[in-house]
Amino acid sequence: MFDLQAIIKEFSDCDCGIKHETALKDVVIGSGVTKDTGEILKRNGFEKNLLLVADKNTLKAADGVLTALKDFKVRLKIYDNLREATVEQVEVIKELISDNDGVISVGTGSLNDICRKASKDAQKPLCIFATAASMDGFASYGAPLTDGNFKATYDAKSPEVIIADTKILAKAPAELKSAGFGDMIGKYVGLIDWQVSALITGEYYCEKVANLTRQATDKIMALADRITAEDEDSASAVLEALLLTGLGMSFVKNSRPASGTEHIVSHFWECKKLLEGKLSDFHGKKVGVATLLIMKEYGELYKKTSVKAHKEQVDWQDVYEHYGALKGEVVKLNTPDTITDRINPKDIEDNWGKIREIIASVPPYETLYDAMKKAGCATTCEEIAVSKQLEQEGLKYHPYMRRRMSLKRLSNMID
Ligand SMILES: [Zn+2]
Ligand SMILES: [Zn+2]
Repeated sequence: MFDLQAIIKEFSDCDCGIKHETALKDVVIGSGVTKDTGEILKRNGFEKNLLLVADKNTLKAADGVLTALKDFKVRLKIYDNLREATVEQVEVIKELISDNDGVISVGTGSLNDICRKASKDAQKPLCIFATAASMDGFASYGAPLTDGNFKATYDAKSPEVIIADTKILAKAPAELKSAGFGDMIGKYVGLIDWQVSALITGEYYCEKVANLTRQATDKIMALADRITAEDEDSASAVLEALLLTGLGMSFVKNSRPASGTEHIVSHFWECKKLLEGKLSDFHGKKVGVATLLIMKEYGELYKKTSVKAHKEQVDWQDVYEHYGALKGEVVKLNTPDTITDRINPKDIEDNWGKIREIIASVPPYETLYDAMKKAGCATTCEEIAVSKQLEQEGLKYHPYMRRRMSLKRLSNMID
């Protein structure tokens, strides 16, 4: 049972220094709740004119939602199949929203991303009607959007209302369910990166929020062999876990509780493929593969009982070459200084024992690999159409497209 009010209350007195808030007002997850959609919107103050954004597949999956909205005047924006969230699409939605009192986004992923950004800009209430537990962005404050070929995270809003009918979630394609699992498994890397950064750079960290992520991820790990079954209980558990980490992001106002360097690797692959005019595989599917690659490296780092560290030496010319047309954005993120400049190598050496403890606080590569196999996830780059060359390029160059510390980036400073 997802009890939003109880979670909000539990986090209201945290002593980490940040007031944990969320714009989410109502989360309804249950079997057959589609028919209550209209009532749920009304009790949360949604007014008569609604813009419903969906694509053909998600609208079909959400059978009954239009009937449930009979008391509203609904304008439809139905895509054929929206696979890429772009700033242009946000403009289209913004234009349509201007005549409406609120927005209901029926679907997952890109559909929600454009609606979260557009309704923030237009200051309209938003409901997300989730049709698959396939990714973690439902309650996020950031929307990954592509502008040209560069993928960046824009300020967006968390929806006020989230509705998920477990009957619909259970029927979602197995590939989407496995993608949701892959996205959750990535949180283990995120937990390592966040703690390592807090330790070495003094970045803000909240143990309580991190534990929310940890517990949600552990719970999903235990469900690995039931993920692809048409099972309402496991589908709802995955969605709840994805929502919890989303809630964690809103509590700390950044994406640390839900994403680490594995998400950036996945974004790198996506950008590079876009430059070639190619679309990428599902978000969670790529994130899962990236998680395995990173956890393998973190496992190797763990084996070092002590380290010698030095300042990071970056061949910027080489980095920029690998970003090609995206160079401009990367220059901006790394000038006048880059994030490792202020790190003292000695701090890495002195804290290495603690860093090893952090690595060991999550399940190792082998355990994650087995769980992902059980959950029907992709485990190799081949399965997500990422070439060996792009795989290696992503692993090496992804850290420069974000101004964020990770253990992966830190490893450049270790002999
Ligand atoms: Zn806190
Ligand atoms: Zn994700």
